[in-house]
Amino acid sequence: MTSSELKTQTTENFETALTNTLNNEYTVEDLMRLLKPQDKKEEKKLYREARKLRQKNFPNGIYLYGFVYFSTNCRNNCRFCYYRKNNKHSERYRKTKKEITKISKKFIEEGVHLLDLTSGEDPYYHNEFNRFTDIINEIKKLNTPTMISPGVLTPKQIKKAREAGADWYALYQETHSKELYQKLRPNQPYKQRYNARKNAQKHGLLTEDGMLLGIGENLKNIAKTIKEMSKQQTSQVRCMKYVKQKGIPIPPQKPPTKYSTVTAVLRLTNPNKLIPASLDINGLKGIQKPLKAGANVVTSLVISDSGLKGVAQHEYGINTGERSPKNVIKYLKQNNYKINTKNNLKKYIKQNKNRNRNKER
Ligand code: SF4
Repeated sequence: MTSSELKTQTTENFETALTNTLNNEYTVEDLMRLLKPQDKKEEKKLYREARKLRQKNFPNGIYLYGFVYFSTNCRNNCRFCYYRKNNKHSERYRKTKKEITKISKKFIEEGVHLLDLTSGEDPYYHNEFNRFTDIINEIKKLNTPTMISPGVLTPKQIKKAREAGADWYALYQETHSKELYQKLRPNQPYKQRYNARKNAQKHGLLTEDGMLLGIGENLKNIAKTIKEMSKQQTSQVRCMKYVKQKGIPIPPQKPPTKYSTVTAVLRLTNPNKLIPASLDINGLKGIQKPLKAGANVVTSLVISDSGLKGVAQHEYGINTGERSPKNVIKYLKQNNYKINTKNNLKKYIKQNKNRNRNKER
């Protein structure tokens, strides 16, 4: 076979995989093909198709999420996480309700559309869940969509969180390869985590699942994970990239595909869901390509003097103000992105809650 014949065959395969995916008739092999563009031309086409779907489904621009990492204490030992229980290097803090409210108000003043209340699996809250629902109740008064990410909750806790006013429950599986999952999250059953998201949907919360790139996975793991994430009744899906920090056991390793390419394939397979680009990985530089690949949310905004940390890169871009709402809005406008509105996000939440309710009936 000549090189030009090979080229033609490769291009055909890509086109078939793309068509199948756009028609929602794709296989794991189709996704694997899309995850490995053979040249710039294929990559550009993949990202262009992803942007077209974003424009069709979310024509009003980019949403902004304020990251309120209110407790860095955790009972678990995830092998990729800076805040794992055994890491002596990570700074531990627990913000008071007053501090959390003050930071949240500042976020709203500066234009974020959603508050993401995140913590490790902190026994202080998990053992006395009312301490957490008190915070949700207080934040709910600020009339802004609220996401909670406190780790695995029991069905009872999920119900209480929803009654207190949470709209979203974010809980990342990291991978849907069960074997790899066990290596990443020791002593945390795969099914328990999976079911926690399902319970949350049943109790009227919108949910998010996320995958992690660069933790020893192969292309097939990624494709299968995307397929599984696309099947679930979540309203937001994301890809995060592993960054080695002090005290984390997993060594740095090159993933088999790019973070932005995974984002594009997520958009193709989840056209109606919100897909974030996170400032946590590499600040503004890190959101550039995922936005070109169809992401429609920027997450992990942090107010510089809030005393809060990030996760994937726990300090990057916080003290310098790079991740502050004002700076991110300026960046997005300079790059010709429209900023969406809180009202549009509220409408999206309402529609998705109604859809989930109808499916549960
Ligand atoms: S990923 Fe979450 S549950 Fe795991 S160690 Fe980190 S904070 Fe704890």
